Amino acid sequence: MEGPARTETRIVKSSLPVSLGFPMLIDCHTHLWRYPGDLSPSFIEEARKMRASRIAMDITPELHWKACAKADRCVVFGVAARHSGITANNDLVADYQAAHPEKIVGFAAIDPNEPGYMEELERTVLDRGLKGVKLTPIYSNYHPMDERMQPVYAFCVRKGLPALFHQGTTFPRAAPLKYSFPVLLEDVALKYPDLVMVVAHLGHPWEADTIVMIRKQPNMYSDVSALFYRPWQFYNSMVLAMEYGVLDKLLFGTDYPVTTIEESLAGIRNLNRVAGPNMPRVPAEKIEEILQRDTLQLLGIPR
Ligand SMILES: [Zn+2]
Repeated sequence: MEGPARTETRIVKSSLPVSLGFPMLIDCHTHLWRYPGDLSPSFIEEARKMRASRIAMDITPELHWKACAKADRCVVFGVAARHSGITANNDLVADYQAAHPEKIVGFAAIDPNEPGYMEELERTVLDRGLKGVKLTPIYSNYHPMDERMQPVYAFCVRKGLPALFHQGTTFPRAAPLKYSFPVLLEDVALKYPDLVMVVAHLGHPWEADTIVMIRKQPNMYSDVSALFYRPWQFYNSMVLAMEYGVLDKLLFGTDYPVTTIEESLAGIRNLNRVAGPNMPRVPAEKIEEILQRDTLQLLGIPR
């Protein structure tokens, strides 16, 4: 009698953190797109510059689901940027979210160069239940303060939707660097102080700009996706983030299919490996805090 009772108590205790929701691994940056279909052949060709080895780019919901097995929650979106050869399939994302509402959090990708972009945003959020917006000024070819973007930001504030920006460099030749600088988001943050914003990839290679900006702007965060495979720059960026005191505003993400959860976790946990004997280190417990952050709560997304 006593044996089973003790076992039961133990199970209840050990499952307590899970029932409370934490620790939890939340991947705030993954992609769903099909090829052929959503990506042009030239985009696929140019995408070879991303990493040393070629990445499979036709991502079905089934492939995505397998890849995010280790995550408890996964933010998923396409990219709307015809200028760079990418179109977003927001309904594919919404269908996927509807099939796995306990885990998948879909964002709408929109491009102000497309006719009807506001209707698409309203439709995918109000009718299809998408929970945030993915914006790509450099890929799509617009300035973040473009007047066509003002109704998008106003809608996000009204509906409590976070906006995740790819604000940093990228590889397509046609994508204008002049729209890529992270500091271009500062005017957006000042005009819309309640807009929750995420700067993807620490705004690489302008990580320092992103770090000083998220320190100033209370509702601005940054994800650390797809950085570990440039280990020296990543180490320096994370030390800089520590020295400016913004590690608590960094979010875990993979940029799947560009990286996997497994290699991202290993790369982030080992970020100090390039440090010499007298160089600073980001403490392991600070790194674990990033990996266990309640990103959905920070972004105002109900769990
Ligand atoms: Zn991405």
